[in-house]
Amino acid sequence: MKRKRSIETLAAQAGVGADCAYGAVSVPIYTTAIYRYDAFGKHRGFDYSRSENPTRQAAEKALADLEGGSHATAFSSGMAAISAVMTLFSSGDHILCSDDLYGGTYRLFEKILRRYGLSFDYVDMGDPAAVARKIGKKTRAVFIETPTNPLMKIADLQGVARIAKERGILSIVDNTFMSPVLQRPLSLGVDIVVHSATKFLGGHNDLIGGAVVVSDPALGEKMHFAQNAVGAILSPFDAWLLLRGIKTVAVRVARSQRNAESVAAFLAEHPFVKKVFYPGLPGHARRKLHFSQASGPGAVISLELKREAAVPRFLESLRLVILAESLGGVESLVTHPSTMTHADIPLAEQAAVGLTPALVRLSIGIENPDELIADIAQALKKAQRVT
Ligand code: PLP
Repeated sequence: MKRKRSIETLAAQAGVGADCAYGAVSVPIYTTAIYRYDAFGKHRGFDYSRSENPTRQAAEKALADLEGGSHATAFSSGMAAISAVMTLFSSGDHILCSDDLYGGTYRLFEKILRRYGLSFDYVDMGDPAAVARKIGKKTRAVFIETPTNPLMKIADLQGVARIAKERGILSIVDNTFMSPVLQRPLSLGVDIVVHSATKFLGGHNDLIGGAVVVSDPALGEKMHFAQNAVGAILSPFDAWLLLRGIKTVAVRVARSQRNAESVAAFLAEHPFVKKVFYPGLPGHARRKLHFSQASGPGAVISLELKREAAVPRFLESLRLVILAESLGGVESLVTHPSTMTHADIPLAEQAAVGLTPALVRLSIGIENPDELIADIAQALKKAQRVT
């Protein structure tokens, strides 16, 4: 579905018009579990808040608008959203995934869903021919991150979505890293977009939430059914926080990205930094592909230090950048994927995809860029002294 308005306008006006009772511009937080029936068998579209809630519905409409989809369903976390999508599959089904995934997604797939008879394989989604070769009789979907977390590998969204369509399987994209401000996979032929709304969409590190957005109304119905049947819904208060966050998502992402570009350029020249993983840098292997499907490089940067032993000193020496396990908020954060966000991936598998213990991931916020660079510079200086 083509969006009628720009992302900035849609975001700023998220939720406006949703309050039918009084025309409140800020959608009220409907903290009600139930709704009174007008008569036997007759209610006003709401009967029980697991099924429908006006505040959540307003957030869902905003999410659908931003991604250019027909339906969105909002969940209590990104993992709940991904779990709901997985209810589309049955025992015996095979799902082909990006070969570098958020550790929590890998954990869900390998440690829970495998026990229910689903199987998963991992492939470079930037190589459509390799994807085509790996699709077998039992493959029902491809599950993609682009850029991947944390190695910033780029998938070929149009190429893989086309193959998925030809083979009659679903394409699913976790669009958390880009947000709909920078990348809209549905417009490139993808069937399902998932988000950790905890990140750029919420943007303030004050809520945990998730979303699924689709173009096909029949798929939307299925996701709505899964949302109600499984029950991991976004609460009315978190839906309101999400709407409030969404209003500034376009300006926040633009500012964070501008800061990140400055930080990445600084890191690329630093003698103690072995490698910078950021699609905005000229040296990124799939920079061209990334910019063919996204309008910017985003605000997440991974970097490898020259010496693994220096990682703790670097992390502990940062004063402004906060050591914490998330991304996409107004505050800049740093994470050590190998032991934090991706700790559930066995070390051998981490090594096989290139995730080393010397790698750290930065999520750049909206602070003053010179102060951010000064903080990172002083921490690198201290880390450099570790032998
Ligand atoms: N997808 C990606 C790419 C993530 O980075 C995360 C969390 O870090 C998730 C999904 C899971 O989201 P949540 O923490 O909201 O459950």
